[in-house]
Amino acid sequence: MIAITVEEPLVLGIRQDSQTMPGPGEIMVSIRRAGICGSDIHILEGSNPFVHYPRIIGHEMAGTVAAVGTGVTDMDVGDTVVIDPVISCGNCHSCGIGRPNVCTDLEVLGVHRDGGFRSFVTVPSRNAVRVSQDLPIDVAALAEPFSIAANILSLTGCTETDSLLIYGAGPIGLTVLQVAKLKGARCIVADLDDARLEFAHEFGADETVRAEPGNVRLAVASETGGLGPTVIVDAAGEPDLLAEALQIISPAGRIGLLGFSTRPVSVVQKDIVSKEVAIHGSRLNRRLLPQVVKWLENGDLRPRAMIRETFAAEDAEAAFAKIRNTPSLTIKVQLEF
Ligand code: MN
Ligand code: ZN
Repeated sequence: MIAITVEEPLVLGIRQDSQTMPGPGEIMVSIRRAGICGSDIHILEGSNPFVHYPRIIGHEMAGTVAAVGTGVTDMDVGDTVVIDPVISCGNCHSCGIGRPNVCTDLEVLGVHRDGGFRSFVTVPSRNAVRVSQDLPIDVAALAEPFSIAANILSLTGCTETDSLLIYGAGPIGLTVLQVAKLKGARCIVADLDDARLEFAHEFGADETVRAEPGNVRLAVASETGGLGPTVIVDAAGEPDLLAEALQIISPAGRIGLLGFSTRPVSVVQKDIVSKEVAIHGSRLNRRLLPQVVKWLENGDLRPRAMIRETFAAEDAEAAFAKIRNTPSLTIKVQLEF
């Protein structure tokens, strides 16, 4: 039994770990597959403001229920599950209006509290979603990253009448692209990296554009009869893009933001009000894993092609080095426990 930790910034560790028997309402899950996220890299690099060290990281995981606590009636030992890392209080204003992902006492597995890069993790049973035994475990472990896309597109809205511009063809941009295509929208993807734009093509982008000054504006000029994209998602986390997005978006357009920058940026109020643009911040997901699991089980998405490499958990150091050295080639790297 092992756990992958970030002991302090830039120091990855592998510890011997023990099992924590589930308390009332909890289950213990034997983790089988877990994905490494850009935010795990940020924790390793010391740039996540919510983390205290040392921390067992990991929030994209799938495994098998190994034990159930008292009062758990909807899970059995042997069930295959994916885990929603969003742990909420259930009592606050946000939880009461169905927005547990912005709970005032939010705790995210692998961020605020120890996560899932470990042989066994114990979590509230309501954070587990049962998946078909037929769903490959590596695909199951992609449910959480796809939930990021499901969340932002549920906030902005996305239908077959929409024309999307997605900034960023990294792992998050590619999940947003796939979910938007599933909903029938037309999608343009902008990125500075040619290899990533190639991936965007593979995953169904109708058009790709190198995000150099002026290029994006030109590429979207003909969208919806010259009005511009109806939805813009910033999956690059670049706050300066907001000013451009406000200028090129259609009237009544919706903008979704995922980044956590603390750097102030200038935007023009008139750009927002004259077109009645809605700006949505999107954090994690609001209990959308069941929906994502349905998509994965139905074969509606193309998750397999996202997984570029799988390492044994013991080789986590090599897995992280690979991502940090060649970020534009590794869409998703997973660890096998
Ligand atoms: Mn993630
Ligand atoms: Zn709450």
